[in-house]
Amino acid sequence: MTDEQYLGIIGCRGCFKCLETCPEGAIKNKGSYVTIDRDKCTMCMKCVESCPYGSIVCLD
Ligand code: SF4
Ligand code: SF4
Repeated sequence: MTDEQYLGIIGCRGCFKCLETCPEGAIKNKGSYVTIDRDKCTMCMKCVESCPYGSIVCLD
């Protein structure tokens, strides 16, 4: 992992499991999907493990 990497959301199904998992409050509920605040995210990867659909992916 490099400093330039961040997490993106692809094909989110709005189950919001990741919201409960994030210790930093970096994931925002947008109604039918979520977004991740890059300034708050520490790249701990807990949300990646929590998503049943593999929708949280590492980008750079
Ligand atoms: S756990 Fe995955 S599918 Fe569910 S809200 Fe989060 S990113 Fe979307
Ligand atoms: S990687 Fe960690 S800090 Fe970043 S959004 Fe996911 S759970 Fe939150």
